[in-house]
Parts: sequence; C-alpha cells; structure tokens
Amino acid sequence: MRTGLLGEHLAHSFSPRIHALLGNPGYKLFEVAPEALDTFMQSGCFDALNVTIPYKRAVISYCAALTNAARGIGSVNTIVRRADGMLLGDNTDAAGFRGMLARLNVDLAGKKALVLGSGGASRTAQYVLREAGCGEVIVISRSGENNYANLYLHADARLLVNATPVGMYPNCGVSPVNLDVLPQLEGVLDLIYNPARTRLLLDAEARGIPCANGLFMLAEQARKAAERFTGTEIDLARSEEIRKTLSAETLNLILIGMPGCGKSTLGAILAEQSGRRFADADAEIEKKTGIPVPDFIRANGEGAFRAMESAVLAELGRESGLVIATGGGCVARAENRDLLRQNGIIIFVQRDLSLLPTDGRPLSQSSRLGDLYRARLPLYREFAEAEILNDAAPEIVAAQIWEAFHEISDR
Ligand code: NAP
Repeated sequence: MRTGLLGEHLAHSFSPRIHALLGNPGYKLFEVAPEALDTFMQSGCFDALNVTIPYKRAVISYCAALTNAARGIGSVNTIVRRADGMLLGDNTDAAGFRGMLARLNVDLAGKKALVLGSGGASRTAQYVLREAGCGEVIVISRSGENNYANLYLHADARLLVNATPVGMYPNCGVSPVNLDVLPQLEGVLDLIYNPARTRLLLDAEARGIPCANGLFMLAEQARKAAERFTGTEIDLARSEEIRKTLSAETLNLILIGMPGCGKSTLGAILAEQSGRRFADADAEIEKKTGIPVPDFIRANGEGAFRAMESAVLAELGRESGLVIATGGGCVARAENRDLLRQNGIIIFVQRDLSLLPTDGRPLSQSSRLGDLYRARLPLYREFAEAEILNDAAPEIVAAQIWEAFHEISDR
C-alpha cells in the first residue's frame, strides 16, 4: 500500500517513525510545494495519505466524500482512496486530541476553555472541547475580539490549549501567554511536542497545574489513521507505547555533577551504547571562544563565562536525542535548569567528595573543593530528576542511568 505524509516542509516529521512502529515501514514523506499540489493530488501516486500544514483545508476539494469529523472541523488530515478510486477525507486529529484530553483527566463539564490560535488544530480542539461538554470554548486570536491584550477577561478559564506554533522548535523558550493572568486553570495542553516542555508547559509545571504536550495526540492520530489505511483495528495501548518510545528517543540525557564525578566518561559510554551524539558543554564553549575555559575565565571573568555557558546550554537543550555532559558549575544559574529540562532529563552523577580529583593535593588541603561540594549539592538535587551514585564500574553506573532515564521518559 502506498502511504505517506503530504505537507510543505517535512524535514522534522516524526510520522515515518510512528508508522514504522505501527508496522508500516514503507510510509513516505511527500514534500509538495503549493503550486505542485494539484498535480500531486491528481497523480494517483498514493493509496492513502496523512496531510499536514498547510494543506489540511486545501485537500478537501479533492475529496469525493468527508467523514462527519472532517466536515464538522472543516479540515482533513487523513485521506483514503476508496475501491472506486475516489478519495474519502477524514480527520483523525480529533481522535488524537480526544485522547490527549482524556489523559489529562480534568472534568470540563460546564467550564470555560481557552484555545490559543484559530488555525486547523484550533478548530479540532474546539470541536472536541464542545463535544466534551465545556460550558464555553473561547478562541484567543491575534486579530480576534478575544485576543492576547484582553486575556484578563477570561481569568475564570479552567483549561488552556495552545494551538499556535509559539514555543515550537527552533524558536523555543517563548510562551504565548503569561499564566499569572489565568489563576483558575486546572489543566494546560500544548499541541507542540518539540520541545517536550515548551515555555508554557514549564510555567504550568512550576505552578503545579496538570499539563501535557502533543506527543500522545500525534501517536493517537497516527494509530487512527493507520486503522483507516488498513481497515484493521489497532489496540489503543499502542499509542501509549509509541509515545513512550518517541519520548525516550527524542529527549536528551543530561548529566550534571561536580568536576571529576565521571560525567564525561559516563556520557561517552552512554552515547556509544545508544548511538547518540555526545555533547560536552565545556568543549562546545571552547569551540565557540577558541580558547580553553580556564583561559576564558581568567581573561573575561566568571560572569562572562556563565553567560556564554547559558547560551550554549540553550542551543544544546533544544536539540533532540543527545547525551549532554555539563560543566560542574552549570547549576550556578537557575535559568539553566529550564534550558536543559525543555527537552531533556537531568541526572545528577553523585560521587563521594573523597573520590573527586584534587589535583594531586590531599583532600584536607583542598578545602575549596569541599566548600564547593557542600554549596552545590542542594542545587544539583534541585536541578535533577534522578540521582545516581557513581561508586561502581562505569558500565554498571551507565546501566543505572539508562534505567532512571527510561523510568522518567515513560511518565
Ligand atoms: P495553523 O493552521 O498554521 O494555525 C496556527 C494558528 O496559530 C494561526 O491560525 C494563528 O492564529 C496562530 N499563530 C500563528 N503564528 C502565531 C504567532 N507568532 N503568535 C501567536 N499566534 C500565532 O497551524 P495548525 O495546524 O493549527 O498547528 C498549530 C500547532 O499545533 C502547531 O504547533 C502544530 O505543530 C501543532 N499540532 C500538533 C498536532 C499533534 O498531533 N500534536 C496536530 C496538529 C497540529 P491567529 O492568527 O488567530 O492568532
């Protein structure tokens, strides 16, 4: 069966991987420019398609029939060629968003929900939220009556859905709204899945508001699409399995800890075992400055070094699937935590003070190291989602790190 994804820019698409996990390794990417869309749709070169930005509406005119969801939402993300050769347009994003909402497990009956953005994903979210019994579904649009300047009118909103691309890779670190304006939120959903934690989701987490990214929605819409393609039911549990697999594959594994605690050795082993790229933050800084870190600090001061380090962590932190070893002092700046957490899991490599290198001096004389250790310990613990004691052979400790990483990425 000839299947694939139709869109304009597909370089970062997760869809071939998801459909391979669903048992369809032949799933292709059809990157088509707007002026070539008509030729592509008439070509008959596919049996079934998924459709993404910017064609979810444009393909409707090529469909001989639409499902109720596709008609109700006004957008098609799945097309199946029927036996008579005509195209049936469907929308499985709705099932995907329904699944995402169900996982959040918030009672929405009679409550106000805000949906940011007025594009295709917004229409899907509105459709499902109305179906879920929300009292009011308000669309916040840059040019609408309800907009970002008068968001305070909706301080009673209980659910916030981001259906804009604001905060999406590579333009990470920005949020479409300030959550202080919406004090009654019981849930925040961001349809973006790269990075795993957008600025909006980090802000929601910091306030203790239940929240989720769009990865489950992506997996669930694909499962539903694969069912349409093959006419065969696929167990719902597959979507959760795919979410976990993609989460583990795409999140960065980040090691923090004192100088000499074993981050570089362990990082190299972990990267080799997984086929991931290993990035050493200090080495990346040296690449940028062209001089060794101690020389840079001597010449420019620690403040300039920390600013440079944050810039490098921002760059590395938004990438996917890396093993990253950080400099021992990266915890000195609180902002580095979110730069690393936006698309990664931070693991503290703990090593007893007596085992840390002391440049040949007896530990009793290197009191600065002891002071640093005591000052940084609570910061490492604040940054990290797991702590692993490096007191065994590197391969054994690496295995413990993997276990902790997968336990967290599965959540
Ligand atoms: P779209 O049709 O282009 O609509 C996006 C909407 O966002 C626009 O209509 C616009 O609404 C608003 N917007 C665009 N740029 C903005 C900016 N700079 N600042 C504020 N608002 C902006 O895209 P879409 O297909 O709806 O997708 C939206 C997001 O959902 C994307 O990030 C996409 O990756 C994600 N998505 C995820 C899944 C999933 O399975 N997880 C599925 C579909 C989409 P206004 O002009 O009204 O402000």
